[in-house]
Amino acid sequence: MRIEQSTKPAQSLTESAQQKVIVVDDDPAQCRILSQLLKAHAFEVRSTVCSQEALRWIEEEPPSFLLTDWEMPSLSGLDLARRVRELNLESYVYVIFLSVRHEQQDVAAALAAGADDFITKPVQTLELLARINAGARVLRREAKLARLAGADALTDLPSRRTFEVVLEREWHQALRHRRSLSCVMLDIDYFKQVNDVYGHAAGDDVLRRFARLLEDAVRDEDYVCRYGGEEFCILLPETGETDAAAWAEGLLARLSESTMAPAARLHVTASCGVAEIAGSMEAATDLVKAADECLLHAKDTGRNRVVSLREFQKSPHAPDGGGASFPQGLLARDAMIPIVHSLGPDCPVLDAAEYLLRFRISGAPVADEAGRLLGIITNRDVLNLATGDFGSQLVVADIVQRNVITYDEQTPLRQVLEFMRRVPVQTVVVTCDQKPTGILSTVGLLRWYLERFRTVSGGEPQGDCSGRPFARRQGDGQRDVVARAELLVAQAMSLRDALDHDATQDDARLAELLSRATTMQELIEELLSSEGRMQREGEMLPF
Ligand code: GH3
Ligand code: MG
Ligand code: MG
Ligand code: MG
Repeated sequence: MRIEQSTKPAQSLTESAQQKVIVVDDDPAQCRILSQLLKAHAFEVRSTVCSQEALRWIEEEPPSFLLTDWEMPSLSGLDLARRVRELNLESYVYVIFLSVRHEQQDVAAALAAGADDFITKPVQTLELLARINAGARVLRREAKLARLAGADALTDLPSRRTFEVVLEREWHQALRHRRSLSCVMLDIDYFKQVNDVYGHAAGDDVLRRFARLLEDAVRDEDYVCRYGGEEFCILLPETGETDAAAWAEGLLARLSESTMAPAARLHVTASCGVAEIAGSMEAATDLVKAADECLLHAKDTGRNRVVSLREFQKSPHAPDGGGASFPQGLLARDAMIPIVHSLGPDCPVLDAAEYLLRFRISGAPVADEAGRLLGIITNRDVLNLATGDFGSQLVVADIVQRNVITYDEQTPLRQVLEFMRRVPVQTVVVTCDQKPTGILSTVGLLRWYLERFRTVSGGEPQGDCSGRPFARRQGDGQRDVVARAELLVAQAMSLRDALDHDATQDDARLAELLSRATTMQELIEELLSSEGRMQREGEMLPF
């Protein structure tokens, strides 16, 4: 065997800068020659005569290319290629076989095992470099597609989906190495006016310029994403809250000096919420939630400013800071819709849809057999399927959203409401001991709010000494339940009469029956929710 080596490094033949190559061949001479050749063309090369060692290296730090011999003791080239593919690595390893074999079935077997290319020995320098070049083209395309899939099309910043993956990773690293991690949530002030006055295209331009300004302002290790609309999120590893807040102040100062649309000499301001990882946080999403609450407070207190979690917690608007007119003492569990049971990951999507419809809820938690929360499935997730895979065979696990916002039952309700009125999340899950016990949805909260409101306007005092305008009196629950139960019985009897005495089945008739059934269902739901509340408030059921 012989390697045809050109005397002059043909640098222009390859774009080898930073390309890592692993060479494996049980013939040390082959290893050495190939390594020298590739190093001469500026590749970063590691070579070994042991295929097991090569596999270990690939697992630890995947190279761009693997050049492998076929016949080797312990692990053949075919087995090595298969094992590499089984690793399912995040970055693609381009595998090229170098072998004396040349039969069609050999080439086919190597490609089937996971190879991308096959070169018959003796290797010609020109051919080897040309084939590596072709591989590099494929790898570049692959990297670009991966980047595009995770990027926001307007600003080219990572999208929220990509951010969530990074957030999880940084969160775990910070915990493991006991390092700080801060999150800055940022929202452009009065951005709607930019669109209204200058037009949507100018608005887009502002967003793009804003994104570049953010990128310029962060360090290499920081992470900026477009969280949605005119909202951005920045993760600052190994940075405490004070430094993160100082960074955000600096950014706002820079922003005040920048013109966002030169022709119109347009300036914009932004508001920032800053939070640092803290012991009270249970999941990565809690960090973002905390920064978001601070952002809301920055908006409420004048905009164009930075609010950090520590500052927010001292303010009277903090969830347990007191002082606000919102009734104190109300907890997430007081307004949640209790769930009978969570959906399992194996539940068919169509059954899940029926479940959501039956209970008329916007989303339902998904839990494993031990009752631990896996995620959430919402009406929208199911509807997404309706435009494509209509007669779906999918199960809940296929469409479950794993990044779910959760609140413990004991969380002050005000905190949850503040969050939900700010972000486009429709449903959050309420948990107890990390197991889902209920949901809070915008629709459910509206129903809860109305019910409370009716109680107030029904003669209840507008506040008592505990500052709880919505406080109920002992016995109210019993009266509600009796009234609703009586209505339910009346509805049921009228429905039975209608069914017994009128056999016509036209559309109008069916619609009427449906409407009666819906009314009954509402009454049943209200009865169930009254029962839950009465049990918590220690009232007896009247029957
Ligand atoms: P606030 O200070 O309370 O944040 O006020 P705001 O006007 O910035 O916030 P609001 O949520 O009322 O409006 C956000 C606007 O951002 C509305 C929406 O049309 C606009 N927007 C969201 N995404 C884009 C986009 O991609 N391009 C453009 N041009 N506008 C966008
Ligand atoms: Mg060999
Ligand atoms: Mg805004
Ligand atoms: Mg916004």
